[in-house]
Formats: sequence, structure tokens, C-alpha cells
Amino acid sequence: MLKQIQGLHHVTSLASSAQKNNDFFTKVLGLRRVKKTVNFDAPNVYHLYYADAVGTPGTVMTYFPFEGARRGRAGTGEVSVTAFSVPPGSLPAWKERLTGFGVSGVSQDTRFDQNRLLFRGPDGEGFALVEAADDRPGWTGNGISEDMAIHGFHSVTLRLADADATAELLRFMGYDEVARQGAITRFALTNGNGAQQVDIETVDAPAAGQGAGSVHHVAFAVENRAAQLEVRKALADAGHDVTPAIDRDYFWAIYFRSPGGVLFEVATNEPGFDRDEDPAHLGEALKLPSQHAHLRETLETKYLSPIKD
Ligand code: ZN
Repeated sequence: MLKQIQGLHHVTSLASSAQKNNDFFTKVLGLRRVKKTVNFDAPNVYHLYYADAVGTPGTVMTYFPFEGARRGRAGTGEVSVTAFSVPPGSLPAWKERLTGFGVSGVSQDTRFDQNRLLFRGPDGEGFALVEAADDRPGWTGNGISEDMAIHGFHSVTLRLADADATAELLRFMGYDEVARQGAITRFALTNGNGAQQVDIETVDAPAAGQGAGSVHHVAFAVENRAAQLEVRKALADAGHDVTPAIDRDYFWAIYFRSPGGVLFEVATNEPGFDRDEDPAHLGEALKLPSQHAHLRETLETKYLSPIKD
């Protein structure tokens, strides 16, 4: 069993509009945009990162906004809910805030004795705010008070047709099964980074179709490149088809398809989002990786409409 995985690092999803995406995450949820760059594999598209003050692993929600992209079709083999952790007692205030902004799908329920406020993102994606005790600092930018502040990810829910092989993978990655309620099984790490829970929801339904609003991949955190190499070797030895380590400028990444269909990544905590920007101005300028630096003029004039903050 692996000991290197610390919890979630980031969650990356697809969107249909950079501007709407930016407004939702910064103005409605009040997260900080900590990086404005491009999809390194398709540089005509932005890659936007929203997180806490500094982009702490376990707080980072990222998007590839493909302008005008068609919505994804919900189904199995995907993340159905990305949940953020908020202070106990804050859901009524959040409900009022989200409703005031016209957010759709706002409803409340309880999962494993924790109160959740469910809602939809701008492309119909499933989110929840979960009231939980959380030692991580909250981010209070953009008009969000301390008593409402998001502390990072609480969990992701993997909606799968068959849970067994993915449950086995999570155990291999260091997670323990900690609770079960109907079709939902919760897995958690004991000494994680705070974003250390994964729920599996088993559903008899057709496979999801990826599009705007779909989660593209879920990234798990490891401390550094040495830990990542150990994880890569262990996954490959266990039969997973893992990519080589890829330089993503703010972290190093390896990817593999989990047996339930969700694309998993293992990302390093180093070097972090302040490697090319002053921490006071994270996310303000368009940052390009060196391999795409020569495209700046074309990208700025032809492909990437400026985002109004
Ligand atoms: Zn990623």
C-alpha cells in the first residue's frame, strides 16, 4: 500500500465560457484565481486555476474553457460532485448567497451526518459545500467572511457502474473505507492534507459523455518528484498504464485511467503557483509555459478573449 498520496491536489473540469467560469468561481464562490495560463496540450484554450490565497494543493479547482462547447452528458465513469469544505453553521448564509446570485440546483441534504448544500456550476456541474471541522485556513477574498470561507476540497464523488476495482485502487493508494450509506462508500486517508476523502457512488447507468461541465480529471497530491516516481513505479507494477512525469510548470504530473473510467493524475506539491509570479499578484497576467511563449501574440489577439475581473 502506498504512503505517499496526501489527498486531492486539484480537480480539472471543462467549461463553455472563460468569462462566466471566472465570474462564478471568483465572484460567487469567492475563490482566488491563482493562475491564468493555457492548456499546455492545446494552447488556444485558457487554463484557469481557482484556489485559496496561494493555491495550496487540495484547494485548487481548475478549468479548460472551450468557448461554446456543448454540455457533457451525466453518467457513470465520472466525478458527479466536487465538494468544498465550509465552516459548521455556514450553510444558511451560503444558501442565501447562492440563491441571490441565481445559482441553479440549490438544495440541502445530509451525507454521513454532514450537512451539504448542493448546487450547479455555470455548465451544470455538480458541486457541494459541506459543513466540516477543518484546520486549513479559509480564503476570505472577494467578499466572503471568515465564518463562511471555503477551506479547500472536502471530497469528490466518483459515480461508477462498478465500484470494486476502483475501491481496490483507492486502498492501494492508501485510502481506507470509513463509511457506507446506501450506494455511497466513503474512503479517507488518515494523515492527509485535509482534502482527503473520496466517495464512490455505485449507479446502474450508461457511461457519461464528456463536455462542458464534466470533470476532466482528478489529481492526487504527493510531496515531491521522488515520491511521484515511487508512486509511478508502484502503479505501473500493479498493471496501470501510467504516463511519464510531465512538467506542468507549477507541479509535475503523471496520469492514468482508473478502472471505473475516471482519469486520475498524481501531481507534486512543488514547485507551486508562485514560481513565476509575485504572490500578491497571482493569476493576474497571462502566463505561458516556455514551449508556448512564442505564441503569445497569436493567442492574445486570436484565441483568448481577455477576461474581465
Ligand atoms: Zn491536472
